[in-house]
Amino acid sequence: MREGQRICQNCKTSFFIESEDFAFYKKINVPPPTWCPECRLKRRMMFRNDRNLYRRACAFSSKNIISGFSTDKPLVVYDRDIWWSDQWDSMQYGLEYNFKKPFFSQFQELLGQSPLPAVFNGRSIRSFFCNRVSALKDAYLVFDSFEGENVAYSSELIYCKDTVDSLQIWNSELVYESVTSEKLYRVFFSQNLENCNDSFFLYNCHGCASCFGCTNLRNKSYYMFNEPYSKEEYQRKIKEFDLGSFKNLQALKQRFQELKLRSIRKSAYTFNSSDVTGDYLWNVHNCKSCFRLTDDVRDSKFLVHGGLKISDSYDNYGAGINAELLYESVDSGVDGFGYICDIIVYSGNDVSYSYNCYGCQNLFGCVGLRNKQYCILNKQYSKEEYVKLVPQIIHHMNKMPYKDKKGRMYKYGEFFPPELSPFAYNETITQEYFPLTKEQALKEGYLWKDHEMGDYTITILSKDLPDHIKDVTGDILNQIIGCAHGGICNENPAPKPPRCRASCSTAFRIIPHELEFYRLLNLPLPRLCPNCRHYQRIKQRTPLKLWRRKCYCAGLTSSPQAGTRFVYQNTAKHFHGSDYCPNTFETAFAPEGPEIVYCEACYNNEVA
Ligand SMILES: [Zn+2]
Ligand SMILES: [Zn+2]
Ligand SMILES: [Zn+2]
Ligand SMILES: [Zn+2]
Repeated sequence: MREGQRICQNCKTSFFIESEDFAFYKKINVPPPTWCPECRLKRRMMFRNDRNLYRRACAFSSKNIISGFSTDKPLVVYDRDIWWSDQWDSMQYGLEYNFKKPFFSQFQELLGQSPLPAVFNGRSIRSFFCNRVSALKDAYLVFDSFEGENVAYSSELIYCKDTVDSLQIWNSELVYESVTSEKLYRVFFSQNLENCNDSFFLYNCHGCASCFGCTNLRNKSYYMFNEPYSKEEYQRKIKEFDLGSFKNLQALKQRFQELKLRSIRKSAYTFNSSDVTGDYLWNVHNCKSCFRLTDDVRDSKFLVHGGLKISDSYDNYGAGINAELLYESVDSGVDGFGYICDIIVYSGNDVSYSYNCYGCQNLFGCVGLRNKQYCILNKQYSKEEYVKLVPQIIHHMNKMPYKDKKGRMYKYGEFFPPELSPFAYNETITQEYFPLTKEQALKEGYLWKDHEMGDYTITILSKDLPDHIKDVTGDILNQIIGCAHGGICNENPAPKPPRCRASCSTAFRIIPHELEFYRLLNLPLPRLCPNCRHYQRIKQRTPLKLWRRKCYCAGLTSSPQAGTRFVYQNTAKHFHGSDYCPNTFETAFAPEGPEIVYCEACYNNEVA
């Protein structure tokens, strides 16, 4: 076996640890991982629930609250504002470290006792059904977003206004059904855009205005299905399409889908980035196997979702905002330095194995602390005691590792065992990207939660909704609409059969603000529940995986490959003449997929 070759403790496949990785582990003083990168990613994601909200009572005030923690979990949950108040003290739950028990068992005990805030939605106003958000105003069913106003049914928004049913949009206004784009104004049904306005159905377009149904355009106006029009003609045509009708909309979506399949794609959607592998990277440099990062990310590996200045970090989900030397952490950062295995830790220094801690330094295994230092399992130590005890605990973690129900061992440096998660597998974002059936999840030793059926009666089926928004009356606000998927989620690509039934919420309502939005912009009512809509958008992004592949460019056309239905005619001369392009790359487009994928050079020849 080569030096870096390992067998994953979890999935039993082999993976390789590069020499640069060893250098990083040495730098932060952790042993090399025993789980493969994908299993490590899933393990982190199993600690994050965005979308599942439950009604429960605050354990402090008995007030009815909405929480991401369901009542069947052995946890103490406080109303958000009480949690953040000084009416209680998390240090009272402190435990003396016990060298007769594995560390993780002791952490689990503390996690069950130390109160947690019902939801994570700091600084938000009139935004009750939102989680993992901050600084939102009038938001409804928005997750994983910050700085927004009048936003609904969306995730991963940053600085957005009047944005509905969208995913990963920044600095935009009046956006509907769009994903992975920034700087948009009045844009609908689009993906991978930069700086576009007044447009519909665009894919991979930059600097475009008043365009409809186009792909791979740069700085164009009045284009329709990639053909130029006069302004007058364009405007006349747009009226004819009449998107207020659901039937018309479906037909156009179909046509756009085919246009996308005829168009070439760049091996990865990267912007101002250098020396990277992964997908959806904006201003990222020297980073490998990274996805969905933005704004100054450097010298890192295995990061998913995050950015805003993060460097020298490995294995994080949702980390960033001025952070350095973060390892195996989830939703952490914000002026953070030296985190090892943390979940929701902000503004900290040298924090390890801690959950939901803010403004702390030198913590080990703590839950729910604010502005503390030198604490272990929520117990206060002097600096001298702390510095002496932590190495003893690390030694103990290695001598008496935690063993989970499946026999997996967790020594120091290993992230939390999934069975310690406050969430079941299918409540977490893991299910959105790596869907499992109940049987599969249980077999892997992960937790599962059966869908809690809501107490409601469907009053109208989505197929009976008026086709056109102009025929929708105010009475729709009183209706409970049956999702067109009828509880069988067609969107979540769980292995079939049996289909995963946990994600479709079966019914939904229209809220007043939303109805106003559809009327104003002449858009038909949705036919699917918010969850199914969310899964449809997730599906538009590439998966969190990479494959090494050859460029599809065959010189004069794209090469006819299994899976691709269309052949693209090249319009420019390429460096490889009429021969096949010799370039290979890592891409998140699966080899068996229908997309025509070009290397950066060939793509730029055709598009730039
Ligand atoms: Zn694995
Ligand atoms: Zn549904
Ligand atoms: Zn090429
Ligand atoms: Zn080429």
